[in-house]
Amino acid sequence: MTDTVIVLDMVNDFVTGEIAAERAQRIIPTLREDLLPAARENDVRVIYANDAHRPEDTELDVWGEHAMRGTEGAEVIPELTPEEGMTCSKNGSMTHSMRPDLTHT
Ligand SMILES: [Zn+2]
Repeated sequence: MTDTVIVLDMVNDFVTGEIAAERAQRIIPTLREDLLPAARENDVRVIYANDAHRPEDTELDVWGEHAMRGTEGAEVIPELTPEEGMTCSKNGSMTHSMRPDLTHT
């Protein structure tokens, strides 16, 4: 089995935007300076799993509009831009693993 790091919802709207969380901001240095470099050095796969909603997504009824597909709010924050070869999942629900929409950078 291959080890994997999953970077979950480190998109602009969750970190600095519509529904920003201070906790997300606090983990940026650890991710950028420790975890992701260690993953690179040890050939550990990195997958970014990101919210990316369509207007009809029912989750928006609860949380309001956020991380809308194709907008800056749904993009990974600049500090953690995925590197070439990393995998990104963009999904409009909390079920990334059930309906992945994967792209490779
Ligand atoms: Zn959402």
